[in-house]
Amino acid sequence: MDKPLTHTTKLQYLMAIGLLAALAVAQAWILSGQRKTNQLLAAVYVSGRQGVLLHRTALLAQRLVTTPAQDERADVRKELLDTMSLLEHSHTGLVNGDRGMNLPSRPSSTVRALFFDTPTLLDAQLRNYAAEVNELARMTDVELTLDNPRLSSILAAASGKELPAALDVVMKHYQVEHDAAVARLQRLEGWLFGMIVCLLLLMVGIRLGPFVRRMLQRETATLKSLNEILVQRAQELARSNTDLEQFAYVASHDLQEPLRMVASYTQLLAKRYQGKLDADADEFITYAVEGVNRMQTLINDLLAYSRVGTRGKEFAPTNCEALVDRVLTNLKATIEERGVVVTCDALPTVMADDGQLAQVFQNLIGNAVKFNNGTPPRVHISAERNQHEWTFSVLDNGIGIAPEHTERIFGLFQRLHTSSEYSGTGIGLAICKKIVERHGGRIWVRSAPGKGSTFYFTLPLREQA
Ligand code: ADP
Repeated sequence: MDKPLTHTTKLQYLMAIGLLAALAVAQAWILSGQRKTNQLLAAVYVSGRQGVLLHRTALLAQRLVTTPAQDERADVRKELLDTMSLLEHSHTGLVNGDRGMNLPSRPSSTVRALFFDTPTLLDAQLRNYAAEVNELARMTDVELTLDNPRLSSILAAASGKELPAALDVVMKHYQVEHDAAVARLQRLEGWLFGMIVCLLLLMVGIRLGPFVRRMLQRETATLKSLNEILVQRAQELARSNTDLEQFAYVASHDLQEPLRMVASYTQLLAKRYQGKLDADADEFITYAVEGVNRMQTLINDLLAYSRVGTRGKEFAPTNCEALVDRVLTNLKATIEERGVVVTCDALPTVMADDGQLAQVFQNLIGNAVKFNNGTPPRVHISAERNQHEWTFSVLDNGIGIAPEHTERIFGLFQRLHTSSEYSGTGIGLAICKKIVERHGGRIWVRSAPGKGSTFYFTLPLREQA
């Protein structure tokens, strides 16, 4: 069944027809141009021939005067008359189409204008000259002497300047016209070639159009379905993220109550019965209390993690120097106990949720002290600004991190040590990452085992309210 043509195909067909018509016109134009250049060439040819004939008549006229023998004179006179006749009819060839020049039976307007109308001066001179030479041919031998004034005027005209110069002008004129016409034709042929190429492309386009369209449609469909899958996945991910956050929040929040109860009763148990039962019971009670404490820390951290997205405050100008001072006060006991040397460069005021930013500094400085066997442990805090953001860094001289772990430590519950080696829940850096990302920044670490670590995080520059 024939399918109806689409708009594009119709347009292509129309363009092809238009181009074909333009091609036909251009062809006709070129043909007529070629005819014109032929005629111009013929004109050049005839003018040149006239020059030759003219020269010959002058020579013959001279010979006629200078030849003493009577019979030889008769021959020269006859040759002179023949040459004159040729000269007189030299341009009728253009009209009659002879001389093998492939000329039109009627001269075109250009040829007429160039050859018959414009050089009227030449024409008149030629005719005049012809009449003179005819007269010369009729002269008696007695009259044919070099001091005959008519003869000398003929000789002067033919061998002198007037006629050859006029012929030269006409020939040049034709030559220039001819060259211009050839250049025009070449340009036209260039256009013609371009049009043919366009036509070919269009035809190929018409043939390939449906194929390409089908291919494009297939590709588009594939892309569309891929995109749909992607959107679906993104939605699922967002949903599961929210679910997870919700779950973490509910679980940690709801677990707190029963856990508080377990904690207070185990503590009560420890207080009342520690040392009153046997050694095993004492040990069990100690384990129970430790377990409950660990679980409480875990749940608190989990709760803090789940609250980063939901309980965040609006960003406000936050003086980081004051904020770090506050954090150091919180960590004062540990810092003093371990003899930690903390140094700090000048820090900026940034737009941030100050509670969350304090948590980031607290976790990073806390880790820098915790994972550190240095004597003394050193921590240095600094900040550097570029065009777009502030980059904060917390440097320590601690145990360092192997390169293969520098990514995963920012995940939830990711720890590189047991809790007997270093206490912790593996949530601190995950919280930092979540907070920094909420502020539009990035966090990463540069470290090597035994060489200390430097944690970096960025905060984009924001207009301060
Ligand atoms: P936690 O401190 O509770 O173990 P974090 O999420 O804060 O959990 O840290 C994850 C892990 O990254 C740590 O267990 C530790 O192995 C490594 N880590 C973090 N900070 C440092 C540090 N400054 N130097 C060496 N290791 C570190």
